[in-house]
Amino acid sequence: MASMLIAGEKTEGSAGEGIDVVDPATEAVIETVPRGTAADVDAAVQAAHKAFASWSRTDAEERATLLRKAIALIERDRKELTLSLVHEQGKPVTEAGGEIHHLIHGLNYYADLATKVKGSYHELPSALSKAYGMVIRRPMGVVAAIVPNNFPLTLLGTKLAPALMAGNTIVVKPAATTPLTTLKIADLLLEAGFPAGVINVITGRGSEVGDALVTHDLVRRVAFTGSTAVGRHIMGLAAPKLKRMTMELGGSDPVIVTADANVKAAARGIAIGRFWNCGQMCLGGKRVYVFDEVYDELMEQLTRTVAKYEPGLGWEKSEKPNIRVGPLHTADGRAELREQFQDALDGGGELVLGGDDIEGKGYFVQPTIVANPAQDSRVAREETFGPLLPVWRVSNLDEAIDRANDSEYGLGASVWTNDVRIIHRVANEVDAGMKWVNQFHYGYDELPFGGVKQSGYGKEHGAEGLDYYLEDTAVVVGGLE
Ligand code: NAP
Ligand code: MG
Repeated sequence: MASMLIAGEKTEGSAGEGIDVVDPATEAVIETVPRGTAADVDAAVQAAHKAFASWSRTDAEERATLLRKAIALIERDRKELTLSLVHEQGKPVTEAGGEIHHLIHGLNYYADLATKVKGSYHELPSALSKAYGMVIRRPMGVVAAIVPNNFPLTLLGTKLAPALMAGNTIVVKPAATTPLTTLKIADLLLEAGFPAGVINVITGRGSEVGDALVTHDLVRRVAFTGSTAVGRHIMGLAAPKLKRMTMELGGSDPVIVTADANVKAAARGIAIGRFWNCGQMCLGGKRVYVFDEVYDELMEQLTRTVAKYEPGLGWEKSEKPNIRVGPLHTADGRAELREQFQDALDGGGELVLGGDDIEGKGYFVQPTIVANPAQDSRVAREETFGPLLPVWRVSNLDEAIDRANDSEYGLGASVWTNDVRIIHRVANEVDAGMKWVNQFHYGYDELPFGGVKQSGYGKEHGAEGLDYYLEDTAVVVGGLE
């Protein structure tokens, strides 16, 4: 059995039981991790709280140096970490390598920012005496980081790095199905010299350890990435304790392709954006609205591109370049996607590509494209978390923007056009936290990212991501001559 990390010690936890971790491509058990309990959560939070007393007083330069040492160790073990991610998550080895690259890039970004936190100075009107004001930026305390299963490492990094660089300590709860590479990364942080208790990892089920973590009195800040349903549940739990929270939730990003678009580039971008990570993206064009004038051409190019995407075993990607999608991450996820697909057909959608079941072991599905399903079908209203793409024909920009906004989600959105007036309208009128023009949906470390509407609130990435781990504290210094 693998071990959790609490107070710098490896432990199998208080329950003495394990949870199996399954390779979604083979359905074989690859490892067992401890089934964490509320008692383990308490031990981890207490350790983080204790470590905060000295960690919060360390020099920012020292914190950055430690993170850079950890980055060097991640680079040293990059191959092993990549394969570990392939086997627990399912993604092809090139995509797993890309995720490690993105993790390292993000960690470096916050190592660089650690020493650049700024406060402010303010002249104040004299009251009892002459005075001035300062705004200083203080770390918060213990951070609870809850991470989903689709990008276990980058979404760990977007929490861990700003939290630690700001001087907080952290308790991480990876998804029950993707704990293994996270545990390896935590070990590397320890090897780099991060003091015991500064980073702790609790494995186990969200319903058990997650609830205990977000309601713990000593947790000051909850960083959650996951589905909107679980996000709502966690917000409810944490509300009575008024925890600081960021909620990075689900999405159903619209993509608009206008009459003047570079159709070839759009087809390529849409294909990458929808089928990367077997379609299990928060950000990702999940509803495509195409102007009449270019609809046939786009469909032809898109279909031709996606028809080449073969599902396969992630670790065989190097020898078989046509493997472009791994399996879905869970059997439940596959069952739900099938229902959404059937609903799209029942609502008049035309099957353009894929759609067949794939027999045998592993939660594989064929990349699938459906044209013009009913506007109230599930693929239009819900998040589709897999390689299923609905495409609709629209007549003009007003219709495209109306349809794009006809969703409870507001994570990302994009437009393919070279017309500056269209860019201006989409930038200002589509409800989404991040927008792309002539690009597929990708979260840059340099830019703040977070949703609106039911996609949540708060930002990760960018300098803003660091702000969410600092408390602005106003200090008035009086009694001056
Ligand atoms: P999920 O089912 O919501 O789980 C996310 C995390 O929450 C997991 O660690 C899960 O643990 C934990 N959890 C479950 N129940 C909990 C509870 N009662 N208390 C505390 N924690 C609990 O999401 P997922 O299936 O892993 O990931 C897919 C979803 O994440 C999609 O909706 C996707 O759009 C969203 N996502 C959003 C972003 C973004 O930045 N906005 C990025 C990536 C993914 P268990 O695994 O043990 O259940
Ligand atoms: Mg889930």
